[in-house]
Amino acid sequence: MTDRQTKVHAKNHYDFLAIGGGSGGIASANRAAMHGAKSAIVEAKALGGTCVNVGCVPKKAMWYGAQVAEAFKYAPDYGFTPQNVDFSWSKLVESREAYISRIHQSYERNLGNNKVDVIEGYARFIGKNTIEVNGECYSADHIVIATGGYPIIPDVPGAEHGIDSDGFFELTEQPKRAAVVGAGYIAVEIAGVFDALGTETHLVVRKHKPLRDFDDLLSDTLVDVMRESGPTLHTHSTPKSVEKLASGELLLHLENDETIGPVDTLVWAIGRASATGDLGLENTNVTKDEKGNIKTDKYQNTTAKGIYALGDNTGRLALTPVAIQAGRRLCERLFNNKPNEFLDYTNVPTVVFSHPPIGTVGMTEPQAQEIYGEQNIKVYTSSFTAMYSALTQHREPTKMKLVCAGPEERVVGIHGIGFGIDEILQGFAVALKMGATKADLDDTVAIHPTSAEEFVTMR
Ligand code: FAD
Ligand code: NDP
Repeated sequence: MTDRQTKVHAKNHYDFLAIGGGSGGIASANRAAMHGAKSAIVEAKALGGTCVNVGCVPKKAMWYGAQVAEAFKYAPDYGFTPQNVDFSWSKLVESREAYISRIHQSYERNLGNNKVDVIEGYARFIGKNTIEVNGECYSADHIVIATGGYPIIPDVPGAEHGIDSDGFFELTEQPKRAAVVGAGYIAVEIAGVFDALGTETHLVVRKHKPLRDFDDLLSDTLVDVMRESGPTLHTHSTPKSVEKLASGELLLHLENDETIGPVDTLVWAIGRASATGDLGLENTNVTKDEKGNIKTDKYQNTTAKGIYALGDNTGRLALTPVAIQAGRRLCERLFNNKPNEFLDYTNVPTVVFSHPPIGTVGMTEPQAQEIYGEQNIKVYTSSFTAMYSALTQHREPTKMKLVCAGPEERVVGIHGIGFGIDEILQGFAVALKMGATKADLDDTVAIHPTSAEEFVTMR
């Protein structure tokens, strides 16, 4: 380890400095500054990081576009006759990007109001508490590494002909045919958007189904809907190579000797890696695990004094609100005299913006059985057709599950798939976090007619 004793000009010394201006970096620097700390952010690309630029925000914009497209399916049974419906992918992208630039402006305003300096460039540690950006040195009493992650591309011949999720957001024209490889959130969401907007879509998963770590009720129902009306699902399909034809079209060859395509676009969505490779960490005492994630304790401390890490590069739950909460709590601890503040990573609610959406918080049924014993678990389920679609020929299933533990039937898992579940889940996650029992849910009067009421009326 080297510690270059570089003289840092006093104006370049901060109380708090975040490397990475994404969800975690911005939230923590703002919170530190609100408590009076002299704060800065270093950002190599665009403010807002993955979430704002190539993640949650543009993805949700595309998903909303897909919702509008789906509404046309239902329109005739509601008495509408949509005529000459034309869809422009480039218009949707234009609206999306205009929205994102308004977010950039509001972030800049907030950071300015809080007096957080924004340093543009790529940061590298050159000493224990010193970094270099574009040849200039900066130091801080507290440095948080919030560098996020990047998409992985598989090591198969021709992989470079595919794009990743960043590339998906660069598409200005709609592909006629697309293959999406992967089985997690991103693959499911991108395949769903393509399909709903009219691209002939193949979702290629190497095991028996997508989202196989989710409660079976959710992934099995999603597979049923896909088989009925969604993207063409290819299971047990491991990519072997990608061939680019003279026409520019792509063929995806599989290990099982089948071929998918030709398609115009191939998207790899097989996971993400932590952006910790070129940070000069060898000049600090920060250590990483075998996957390149920065090792942290529950307080976001790394193995180096005065250096913290949070968000996607820690290998914990890769979700924007998790990075934000971890950052804010860290700064409450450092600058607001709350020595025991930390983020509890259990019972974090999450939504997959699939078609229909999936929402989940707490334990799956098998997880609960393993922890509490099968005999101590009681499961309640509900299966119905959401009213919005029930009036029409395009009926879509909604399925819900409550996983309850012990004689008091404490709710330890809430799972749902169906219209509106993305908005329903948040409040129920509060109940679960507070320790609600099945009786507490039953004691709450239903809101009728909604899908949400099923969670308080299950038998
Ligand atoms: P990031 O937001 O990735 O920010 C890291 C920043 O650090 C980047 O801007 C990067 O340029 C910068 N950086 C990296 N290295 C350096 C360096 N050395 N010097 C200076 N700057 C550097 N989460 C949800 O909760 N809901 C969703 O719907 C959702 N959808 C998603 C959809 C997609 C397609 C993707 C890819 C992710 C999605 N996520 C979603 C996950 C979410 O985007 C991340 O969990 C979140 O952005 C992580 O925040 P972060 O602060 O750890 O990192
Ligand atoms: P994930 O890790 O969630 O899923 C990727 C999946 O792809 C793996 O689980 C694996 O599934 C499959 N896979 C892995 N390697 C290969 C391979 N070589 N060939 C084929 N398939 C492979 O990663 P994502 O990229 O989807 O998303 C990253 C994270 O970003 C998510 O975990 C989530 O935390 C966050 N995110 C959140 C969203 C939200 O909140 N709505 C939306 C998007 C992302 P299997 O083993 O079953 O094959």
